[in-house]
Amino acid sequence: MKIGFYDTHSYDKDAFLKANKQYKYEIEFMDFKLNEKTVNSAEGYDAVCVFVNDVLNKKVLWRLSEMGVKLVLLRCSGYNNVDIEEAEKAEITIMRVPMYSPHAVAEHTVGLLLALVRKIPQAYIRTRGGNFSLEGLTGRTLFGRTVGILGTGKIGKIVAEILSSFGMSVLLYDVLPDYNWALKNGFTYVNLKDLYIKSDFISLHCPLTSETKHIINSGSLMLLKPNCVLINTSRGALIDTDALVKALKKKRIAGAALDVYEEENNYFFKDWSEDIIGDDMLIRLLTFPNVLITSHQAFLTEDALAAIANTTLENVYQYKQGGTLDNLVWIA
Ligand code: NAD
Repeated sequence: MKIGFYDTHSYDKDAFLKANKQYKYEIEFMDFKLNEKTVNSAEGYDAVCVFVNDVLNKKVLWRLSEMGVKLVLLRCSGYNNVDIEEAEKAEITIMRVPMYSPHAVAEHTVGLLLALVRKIPQAYIRTRGGNFSLEGLTGRTLFGRTVGILGTGKIGKIVAEILSSFGMSVLLYDVLPDYNWALKNGFTYVNLKDLYIKSDFISLHCPLTSETKHIINSGSLMLLKPNCVLINTSRGALIDTDALVKALKKKRIAGAALDVYEEENNYFFKDWSEDIIGDDMLIRLLTFPNVLITSHQAFLTEDALAAIANTTLENVYQYKQGGTLDNLVWIA
C-alpha cells in the first residue's frame, strides 16, 4: 500500500513515521495541498491522506479515480472539504478520524477565551519589553456569567463541562439535543435565538454544513449582547466574516477568539511573516485589539497527533482487510 500524504508539516511526519513502525506502509510526504492543480501528483499512489484544507471536489475525485486512487484518508474529523456524492459516483472510499482528542480542541477553546478576556497576549508582550503597567489590561471574570454552546457533540460537551466548573451558567443549542447529559450537568437547551440573546460568551462547535454556513451573520450578530464574545474553534465559514468585521467596527460585540477563518486555506499552516498578505479581511481582523486568532491549532497536541496517526493507519488496515469499516464516511 503506497500512500501519498498532502499538506504535511514536521509534526505530521513525526507522528506518522512513529505510528507506521507497526504497519510498514510505503508513505511519502508532500508539503503542498491536494487540489485541482496538484492532483496529478497522486499518480502511483493507492491512497491519499489529506487534511482540512485539501480540496476534494468533483474534478479532483474523478482524476484520482482515473489514476486508480480509490481510498482517501482524512486525518481529521470534519469532511466538509470532500464532495461525498461525487466520491460515491467515482467509487472512492472516504475514511476519517471521527475522534482523536476532543479534549485537545476543547482545552484550546477555553485557552483562547481566557487569553482574550484577560488580555494575556497583550500582557505577555508588555512584560517582555519591561512594561509592567496594568493600564488597559482590565478583564472580565467568567464566574457567574453565561456561556452559550452551539453544537453539543464531543467537543461542545467538554467545553460546557470545563466552563461550568468555572462557575458559569451553560446554555445549549443543538439540532440533536442530549437532554440526559444536560439534565445530569444542570445545563439548559434553549432555542437558537435565546442562546444568542442571553449568552455573554458563545462558543461554536457544530460542523460546517449547508445549514450551518454563516450561522453567525449580520442578523444573529444583531441579537448578541454588546458585551458578548464569540469563540470559534470549529470551521471558519460558520461565521460571515464580513458581518463580523462590521459588528466589531461598530462595537456591536465585545470580541472574537478564532482558531479558524473562512478563507484560511490560503494562509493558515504557513509562515507568511516575510511576505505580503493579500487578504484584507484577515488583516483587518488582526488589527482589532479584541480579536485573537490562532491558525487552526486547536487539535495540535502530542496526544492528538498520535491518535490521528494511529487511527488513520488502522483505517488503512481495515480497508485492506475488507471487513466492516468503522470510520467510513461513505463506502464505494
Ligand atoms: P460532533 O459530531 O461530535 O458534534 C457536532 C454537533 O453539532 C452534534 O451534536 C450535531 O448534532 C451538532 N449539529 C449539527 N448540525 C447542527 C446545527 N445546524 N445546529 C446546531 N448543532 C448542530 O463533532 P465534534 O467532534 O464535537 O467537532 C465539532 C467540530 O469541531 C467539527 O465539525 C470540526 O469542524 C471542528 N474541529 C475543529 C478542530 C480544530 O483543530 N480547530 C479539530 C477538530 C474538530
